[in-house]
Amino acid sequence: MNKVKTSLQKRDKDVNWHPYTQMKTADNIIPITKGKGIYLYDEEGKKYMDVVSSWWVTLHGHSHPYIAQRIFEQLNTLEQVIFAGFTHEPAVQLSENLLKLLPSNQKKVFYSDNGSTAVEVALKMCIQFAHNKEKKKTKIFAFRNAYHGDTFGAMSVSEKSFWTKPFESMLFEVVFIDTPNSENIEDLKIQIKDLADEVACFIYEPLVQGAAGMLMYDAEDLNSLMKFCREQKILMIQDEVFTGFGRTGKLFAANHLSEHPDIMCFSKGLTGGTMPMGITTCSKEIFDAFWSDDQHKTLFHGHSFTANPLACTAGLASMELLLKEETQMNIQRITQQHSDFIKTLSLHPQIENARQIGTILAFDFKTGHGTSYFNEIGKKLYNEFLQRGIIMRPLGNVLYLVPPYCISPEELKFVYQNILEVLDQFND
Ligand SMILES: *Cc1c(COP(=O)(O)O)cnc(C)c1O
Repeated sequence: MNKVKTSLQKRDKDVNWHPYTQMKTADNIIPITKGKGIYLYDEEGKKYMDVVSSWWVTLHGHSHPYIAQRIFEQLNTLEQVIFAGFTHEPAVQLSENLLKLLPSNQKKVFYSDNGSTAVEVALKMCIQFAHNKEKKKTKIFAFRNAYHGDTFGAMSVSEKSFWTKPFESMLFEVVFIDTPNSENIEDLKIQIKDLADEVACFIYEPLVQGAAGMLMYDAEDLNSLMKFCREQKILMIQDEVFTGFGRTGKLFAANHLSEHPDIMCFSKGLTGGTMPMGITTCSKEIFDAFWSDDQHKTLFHGHSFTANPLACTAGLASMELLLKEETQMNIQRITQQHSDFIKTLSLHPQIENARQIGTILAFDFKTGHGTSYFNEIGKKLYNEFLQRGIIMRPLGNVLYLVPPYCISPEELKFVYQNILEVLDQFND
C-alpha cells in the first residue's frame, strides 16, 4: 500500500500526531470523508466496513440520522453550560434513564468526558471515601492484564507494558491479582484477605479484558470474588467503559452478575460513539461519605465540559435506539451468528482460543515465532483486511470483531468469509 500520498495525507503528516502511532513508520493513514452505517468512505470513495466500531465506540452505525437530529436540536437550544451551580434537562434525564438500567444500588451520576477520566473519578471517590472517614487505606487491587486508560491514575491500575514504561516511577502502587477461575479463586481470596484492611478499592474490567486482547473469564468466578470483597468491605469499581451498552449480549456486564459493585464507569458506547463523554456512577454509601457541612469532604473534581448538553443528548438518543426491540434483536442475532461461526473458525489450523461473549468475537493467530515476528504479520493482516474493505486492527496476535449492532446478517457473513480466506492465505 505505498500509493502516492493524497493532499490530505500530506497535510495531516505536516501537522498531526496520531494516538498509539509511531509517526516515523506511519505511512498509511487513511483520510476518511464520510461515515454511514457500518461503512467509512475514503477520498476515492472506497468503503471500509468498520467492524471494530472505531475503537469500540460506535453502536448504531456512523452518522446515525436520529442521533444527528437530536444533537442538532440541542445545539440550537443550549450547547454548553457550566455544570457547577447549574443544571439542564439532558443531564437530569440521562442520569434518570441510566440509573434505571443499572444495578439497584447505583444512585448518583458524576459526569466527565472520556473513559480514563471516568476511571480517575472512580479512584478519587474511593481514596477520598477512606480519607473522609479518617481511615488510612492506600492500596488498590487490580487484575493482571488490566487496561483502564491512559491518564496517570488509570495507567497506575493498568498492566505495566512498554506503553507505560517511561512513567513507571511516577505511578502509584497497585497490587495485581490474576483474573479468577475455578482453580485459583480460593487462593485469590487469601491474597485479598491478607491486605483487606489497607485496601481502598478493587478495580476490574468485568468478564472481558478488552485492550489486553479480549481475554475472557467467567461471571460465576467474578461474582464469587465480588461477594468476598463485599464481605471484606473492599469497595469495587466496575469499569464498563468497553462492556457497557450491549457489547456482552446484555445491556451491561452487570446483568451477568448478581453481586453489585459500589462504583461503575462508562464511556465509549455511552453516546453511541458520537460525542466524547464519561460517566462514573456510585452507591448512596459512597455519596454519603462526601455529604457534609465540612467543605474538606467535597469531591473537588470537574472538567470544563462536565455534562455537556450535546453529549448528554447524544447519550439519550443512543440509549433510546439501544432499547428498541429491533436493536435488542440485532444484538441477539449477532451473538448467535458469532457462536455459529466459532464452530467453523475453531477448526482452522492457523488459530487458537476462539472465544466470544455476546457481540465480541476474538481469536489468537498462531505464530510459533514469537511476538516480533507477529508484529510484521499483524501489519500484513491489517493491510490485507483493509484491501478487502474491512477494518480489523489486531491487538498483538489477537484478531477480533466488535461490530456496530446495525451490521446485517449478510455483511457479517461477508466478514467471516474474508477471515477464513485471509487465514488460508497466511497459513504457514
Ligand atoms: C478504552 C477503555 C478505557 C479508556 O477510555 P478512553 O475514553 O479511551 O480514555 C478505560 N477502561 C476500559 C475498560 C477501556 O476499554
